[in-house]
Order: sequence, then structure tokens, then C-alpha cells
Amino acid sequence: MADEKGTLYLCATPIGNLGDVSARCLEILRSVDMIAAEDTRRTLQLLNHFGIAKPLTSYHEHNKRAKGEYIVKLLIEGKSIAQVSDAGTPAISDPGEDLVRLCIDNGITVTSVPGPVAAINALILSGLPAKRYAFEGFLSVNKRHRREHLQSVKNDTHTLIFYEAPHKLKATIEDMRAAFGGGRRVALARELTKLHEEIIRTTLDGAAELYAESAPRGEYVIVVEGAAEDTVTDERFWTDMSVTEHVDKYIADGMKKNDAIKAAALDRGVPKRDIYNDYHKEVGI
Ligand code: SAM
Repeated sequence: MADEKGTLYLCATPIGNLGDVSARCLEILRSVDMIAAEDTRRTLQLLNHFGIAKPLTSYHEHNKRAKGEYIVKLLIEGKSIAQVSDAGTPAISDPGEDLVRLCIDNGITVTSVPGPVAAINALILSGLPAKRYAFEGFLSVNKRHRREHLQSVKNDTHTLIFYEAPHKLKATIEDMRAAFGGGRRVALARELTKLHEEIIRTTLDGAAELYAESAPRGEYVIVVEGAAEDTVTDERFWTDMSVTEHVDKYIADGMKKNDAIKAAALDRGVPKRDIYNDYHKEVGI
């Protein structure tokens, strides 16, 4: 019986173009005892394309607890395992993070086989500053949480990178306009490495206008310019202001009235309707 533990290899796979798989990734996939895949059918397509036959097991969001234990047991027994996600780099908005932690806790060696990651490719193509950036991943589906997330980064001066599903893109752009103002520059990096790759470099207002008529299609990374140093304000700048002054300040900063009301409501932690009513009572319309 082997007394050496196996190794977990985190293998990055293409985000669209199969030609982007690395020689070392293929070598590792050929050499391991088993591949843990987020979507076994999708990984099978990759393996078939490169003529690799290997036992596959699924490891995803919904079975990660039990399957993680099983994978760690095999690693402790000396098996070597490659982990691959649907596309791109495991653990980046994908399952993997928990498995890495579990392996570390069990004294198992974890190593990476680097490769594509949508966020970084979007950043380098965005034309926005790439020296300092933050990866923000997906916004929550919960309205309040997504707004809080955006509020928490609105004064960050570095570039912000978000993932988003196409059917939520319009709503996300609206929420970003409300939080950051419509004048912020944005790059929508669409279908990276694929036939219809496109980088739309515009502002949040421009993006909203673009998708007012047409539905977003394909996979997107949203790269947003950071706040300008001189516009960074004290988080609680509004404490001495009336509701009207607070809303008017956002309007003066370039927000539409409705967005300004939303932003003021979020700052004050009260329902939008309350701000709406107070504002209209004060301004007398
Ligand atoms: N682990 C992956 C990575 O390394 O980038 C990300 C997986 S995450 C579940 C999927 C999200 O990544 C998509 O909703 C989209 O925001 C982004 N994405 C993945 N592939 C992309 C592509 N080819 N073009 C643009 N965005 C992509």
C-alpha cells in the first residue's frame, strides 16, 4: 500500500477556445488517476477532443461536501487527482475553493496548472487601468445584498471586475449606474476567446442605452473604472443634509432622479418609497 499522499492539481481549462489548453494541462490530465469535474459532460468533450480517457467524478456546488471527503480519502490513499471546472480556472467563481481548503487541512499537496481566467483577460482588454484592480465576482441575486456590495466599492479608486450572467446584465448595469453614476467608464468583455469576441468600451449610461433595445447575449465580464480620486467622498457625507439635499447632491453628481432616490435610500437604510415621499413633499410636487 502506498504510504505517500497524492497531489491535487487545479487545472485551468479554456474559456471558449480549445486551443488555449496548455500542454502541461493535457499532460496532467493524462497522468492523474482521476479527474474531478464540475460538469462531467462538458469535461468529457474536452477529453474526447484530445483523446484522453480517464475516470471522471463530479464535484460541484451541490455535492461538494460529501464528494470533497471522498476525493480527500483517495488523495490520502495516494491517488493523484486533477480538478477542472466548467471553464477557466477552478476556484475563481467556481467550485474548488473548499476542496483546496480541505486538502490543506489534511496535509495534501495542492498545485496549480495555470491557464485561462475570464476576469484577467477582460481586464487586459478593457483599456482601463490594470495596475490596481479588484475581482468582485458575481453580485448576489438578493437585491439588497447586491446594492450593498456596490455601495461598499463605489469609492474604490482601482478598477473593478465583475462576472454576470447575460439575463441579469441589464439589471446589473442599472444598479451600477445608481451606485456609481452613469458617467463611469465600463468595458463589457463578451464571448472572450470565441468567434464573436467583442469588447464594448463605453460608460454605464452608454451601456444602458445599448441594451435598452437589444438583449445581451453570450458570456460577459464587466470591468468598471474606479472612482476618481477627487470624487471620493466621506461615506456618511449626508448626515447633516435633509432628504432633499441628499437626493439633489446625487442629481448634481450626474444621477437621474430615480437613481438618486435609490442611492439616498440605501445610504440611509430606509425604503426607497420613504425617500420618494419625503423628497416630493419637500420639493412640493
Ligand atoms: N472559473 C472561470 C474563470 O476562470 O474565469 C469563471 C467561471 S464563472 C462560473 C462564469 C462567468 O465567467 C461567466 O458568467 C462570465 O461572467 C465569465 N466568463 C466565462 N467565460 C467567459 C468568456 N468566454 N467571455 C466572457 N466572460 C466569460
